[in-house]
Amino acid sequence: MRMMAGRFRRTLLVLAVAAGVLGAASRGARAEGLAIVGATVVDGAAAPIPDAVVLIDGDRIQAVGSRAQVALPKGITIVDGRGKWVAPGLVDAHVHFFQSGGAYTRPDAVDLRKVRPYEREIALLKAALPRTFARYLLCGVTSVVDVGGPFWNFEVRDAAARTALAPRVAVAGPLISTVDRPQLDIGDPPIIKTATPDEARALVRRELERKPDLMKVWFVFRPGDDLAAGKALVAATVDEARKGGVRTAVHATELETARAAVEAGADVLVHSVFDKPVDDAFVDLLKRRGVVYIPTLFVRTGYTLVLSGTFTPTPAERRWADPDVLATFDEVKSRPELASRPRRAPDPESERVTAQNLKRLSDAGVTIAAGTDAGNIGTLHGPSIFRELRLMADAGLTTRQVLASATAGGARVMGREKDLGAVAPGKLADLLILDRDPLVDVANLEAIHRVVKGGRVYTPEELARAAAGR
Ligand SMILES: [Zn+2]
Repeated sequence: MRMMAGRFRRTLLVLAVAAGVLGAASRGARAEGLAIVGATVVDGAAAPIPDAVVLIDGDRIQAVGSRAQVALPKGITIVDGRGKWVAPGLVDAHVHFFQSGGAYTRPDAVDLRKVRPYEREIALLKAALPRTFARYLLCGVTSVVDVGGPFWNFEVRDAAARTALAPRVAVAGPLISTVDRPQLDIGDPPIIKTATPDEARALVRRELERKPDLMKVWFVFRPGDDLAAGKALVAATVDEARKGGVRTAVHATELETARAAVEAGADVLVHSVFDKPVDDAFVDLLKRRGVVYIPTLFVRTGYTLVLSGTFTPTPAERRWADPDVLATFDEVKSRPELASRPRRAPDPESERVTAQNLKRLSDAGVTIAAGTDAGNIGTLHGPSIFRELRLMADAGLTTRQVLASATAGGARVMGREKDLGAVAPGKLADLLILDRDPLVDVANLEAIHRVVKGGRVYTPEELARAAAGR
């Protein structure tokens, strides 16, 4: 039904817009237009359109349809799409720019500050930000959501907005937290412990001054903790944030913590429930409240692989990850700090439950958004999206569901579903031109021929140069 309705709506829009185009053409064609012609348009919602025209005017899509439906104004630039696929640009709905993905980036998890002081780590990753931005586009990720970091996160958003070769960036400020992380506090901490609901409200008000896209709560629950007290912190945050028109995203990874978070008003769950199978009441609650669920299937494995010295980059990571960050994994392999850590082997039972929960929530119609938690140790800015999409497909989601989660789902997290997440008239022209069909295999999203952001077309080569700082 959704497909039919979507297709019908799109056809109407195409006809309406095409009429407008003809009108404009008769007054003199605009030379600055652009059309991708001959490709198959695929997104996670509507039926594919073979041999399509995607007409772009400025930074927006003007019309989408078959060649018969969409007239090409004279004088526009034609991008040959024959034998290609056009998909929406990807959205990574969970990243952190205050973390590099490298081994030194979370001294609270593994303390390697004797090898590289945390101040140095932060200075290096800040200096690398322009390259990190370009790296996201290189991987087809045209938008990201930074779900929490220091107050300087807001400057990252500003910097991205000023940079052509950068994804669109939505941000949350410091995490309103039930626990402390003093190792990460060098003057502008990313995680701030709030002891009472009033403290949480005060922090929300400070953050609202910076106009965050989301508020973020780190609802860490350990056996013996007071679940009701944590829930009260979430409720206070949600209430205060809503006064400022801002939604709240919550880190809550156990079924009862996640349930408490949603009951307290959370709009987005930024991780999977990994301890237990979700139950009917939980599924209904998420559906009823319109909560978006971000599974982040890879991030825990990333830590395990790096800290056990067994991280092997995927082909996409070899090609597109920051080589300086990858190098840190080898640098630390023989450090005593790693050897002395308690070995936490990946728990296959937990991974099975996590995958089943995703499948169940997706089948029930809960909105899923693909997010990597990039920046955490082993989860690399840019190419980690492909690890994540593969795991989502392995969990039983169809290629179409995975594509929808990485496009329309992410747009929902950003609060920008009007602008992003589909190949449709009126949306921003953030697109991928692919050599292979992503509905056959999600790995085909790696076969990037061109990346379009805001109507500008980039080759992988120029994006790779920018990502290398050349
Ligand atoms: Zn995170």
